[in-house]
Amino acid sequence: MVISSHSVQCVKLGWTRCYLLKCTGGYLLIDVYYPGYYGQFEKKLEKIGITASDIKYLLLTHHHDDHAGFAAELVRNTGCRVIAHRNALSALEKGDSEDACDKPVNRRLQIVFTFYMLFHKEFKFPPVRLAERDIIIEGDNDEFLKGIGIDGVILHTPGHTRDSISVLLSDGSAFVGDTAMNFLRWTGVGHRPIYIEDIDTVYESWRKLRERGARVIYPSHGNCFSAAKLDKSARLAIST
Ligand SMILES: [Zn+2]
Ligand SMILES: [Zn+2]
Repeated sequence: MVISSHSVQCVKLGWTRCYLLKCTGGYLLIDVYYPGYYGQFEKKLEKIGITASDIKYLLLTHHHDDHAGFAAELVRNTGCRVIAHRNALSALEKGDSEDACDKPVNRRLQIVFTFYMLFHKEFKFPPVRLAERDIIIEGDNDEFLKGIGIDGVILHTPGHTRDSISVLLSDGSAFVGDTAMNFLRWTGVGHRPIYIEDIDTVYESWRKLRERGARVIYPSHGNCFSAAKLDKSARLAIST
């Protein structure tokens, strides 16, 4: 079975887009949302004719609470297997998405975040403890997705966080978590993540995505966009 873009479904919860890819025996879900939104998630699934028990895998693009918030609840209710990068494990086990290395990407966002922090003081979520049955990604993984009927690969795409991973399908669809965004662009951020650990590492990840064939970026925050838009910022010289 080959997954085409027609087999991709999007569930929008607040400012995060969660993507469902058809896989053998059900679905692979890319990311969840903040804790407390599981009920809303189930309702939205119902509207597109999917039940939570159809979810066989949950791929966490990284450990932040707007991506992993109700992961533990989903696993408890569905028995789905978690896929995460090794660098995510300790933060997931602590249920803590605060990272001293993160910083806003520019001054305007620094101001936006100062206000945001007044309302969002907690960065905690119910701990996610990976078990033996779960899948720990180290570096890039070209095999796992193919084994579950998805024609794509998992790429390590750090820069936003050191544990960030992306799913790249063979048709060029790239589900990148927060490695690139289409969000708060009035702040002058372009497609950069609004929060970063290291911007040069973000650009290296963009370069990897493009070199591996990314054509359309599906970010967790904002609408999908042409991957060619990453080229200038990443100072790429790739003709497509
Ligand atoms: Zn994030
Ligand atoms: Zn995010």
